[in-house]
Amino acid sequence: MNAIDHSLRLPRTDLYVNGAWVKASSGKTIPVFNPATEAQIAEIAAASVEDVNRAVEAAHACFESAAWRRMRPLDRGRLLEKLALLVEDHADELARLETFDNGKPYATSRYVDLAFTIDALRYFGGWASKSAGEYITLSPFFDDGGIYRAYTERKPVGVVGGITPWNFPLGQAIQKVAPAIAFGCTVVLKPSEETSLTTLRLAELIDEVGFPKGAVNIVTGYGHDAGAALVDHPLVRKIAFTGSTATGQRILAASSKTMKRVTLELGGKSPTIILADADLERAIPGAANAIFGNSGQVCTAGSRLLIEEAVYEEVIAGVAEIARGLRLGPGLEEGTQLGPIVSSRQFERISGLVQSGLSDGARALAGGNRPDRDGWFFEPTVLADVRPDMQVITEEIFGPVVCAIPFKDRSEIKPIANDTPYGLGASIWTRNLDHAHLLADEIDAGTVWFNTHNILDLAVPFGGTKMSGLGREFGTEAINAFTEPKAVVMRL
Ligand code: NAD
Repeated sequence: MNAIDHSLRLPRTDLYVNGAWVKASSGKTIPVFNPATEAQIAEIAAASVEDVNRAVEAAHACFESAAWRRMRPLDRGRLLEKLALLVEDHADELARLETFDNGKPYATSRYVDLAFTIDALRYFGGWASKSAGEYITLSPFFDDGGIYRAYTERKPVGVVGGITPWNFPLGQAIQKVAPAIAFGCTVVLKPSEETSLTTLRLAELIDEVGFPKGAVNIVTGYGHDAGAALVDHPLVRKIAFTGSTATGQRILAASSKTMKRVTLELGGKSPTIILADADLERAIPGAANAIFGNSGQVCTAGSRLLIEEAVYEEVIAGVAEIARGLRLGPGLEEGTQLGPIVSSRQFERISGLVQSGLSDGARALAGGNRPDRDGWFFEPTVLADVRPDMQVITEEIFGPVVCAIPFKDRSEIKPIANDTPYGLGASIWTRNLDHAHLLADEIDAGTVWFNTHNILDLAVPFGGTKMSGLGREFGTEAINAFTEPKAVVMRL
């Protein structure tokens, strides 16, 4: 890898509405900080309800226009492909910007976030021309001698409101925009107020591609006003949301007023389950990676480490050793393995939860503290001696903190693994595939991995059960998420 370029090129920071950059009518701004230094690096516009309404009207006008409705699906796919090429050309610059804004190591920005973003644009671009309906022979209950047939079409839901979190900002933005455009919807996207810079740079690239005016609108702002305005607007027909369970619940309740479609990708407390027969040379680094990757700010992070008693001591010692050896640093510094936490608010939350665990009697085998340096850094932390009622085990921490839990035999795995309101992911580490399949059947989660963790693929449906969400994104499920079937019934 070449040396990292440290230059920062800021995007425009107004609102991108109807194919133009406009000032927020509120005149208010939101400060943007570099989490590695705590220094302010920019300010972005805080959209008002009126600004959001204007963006929705633009998206609606585009959706209703003959030009958009008649655009060939292949040509919608070409727009996404053109954007993929532009993002690819600017991948280094976008990765640097993501690191400045979010704090994650440059290598993660470049080879996870950007790689996913480019792939997602291509993947959904390919789908644009492949959504198809059915042709059905009817069996009318009133047999009148007629021959009846029906066909179904997948119709775009309409204007989509995309609302995204801060942990994979650009990837999450594309996860909403690309399928919406592929399946013929138009979009108003509100990125997280913590990390909007790469989404704003994306708007510049969307403008360069020349999407029809109003097809993609990007409004930055706070959740409680700009986000809520999007959820309340009657012309928004679907909310595609990724974020916390608490916000997801608010969105679900508010969406009922206008009967919006919703997909909710929410929080998790995913178990990494290590059986005594696992290949520990893979399982120990696998478990460490499952929680410390992206500083644990991953919805499917393996934050509960369930270990069979026979290998418990060996596994916790191994994971703790890896934690102690990880190199914390600014994301743009060569060799950094763990960046800072995204914001002071999130840092305080992690730190508070770890303190509560320690005062409740948990034992830190590694980490547990803030290192003595500027920036919102938190040491990768391994907690043992946790009880099921402790906050560290019941709540999503969304930081580099793992709780180790021993189990005696396999009959204990299901009750412990499912003892959480969440159901997003789980990984099972074993050499015995029979056990793995039986456990996969019993664990209540949207995704179960064997001998790996956090492998997401655009072809595989992704989402959660229980409080981890509603609906699925990716794969063929994405068609259902952004379209509705229309049936046309005929008598021949
Ligand atoms: P958050 O819920 O605080 O914010 C997410 C987005 O919602 C932001 O854009 C915010 O401005 C907006 N928002 C806040 N209140 C709103 C309201 N009342 N109406 C409309 N929008 C509102 O979440 P976060 O802290 O940004 O992200 C972390 C959370 O996201 C974690 O819980 C994590 O597990 C979850 N997450 C889930 C997935 C997944 O795919 N399941 C992926 C990444 C993150």
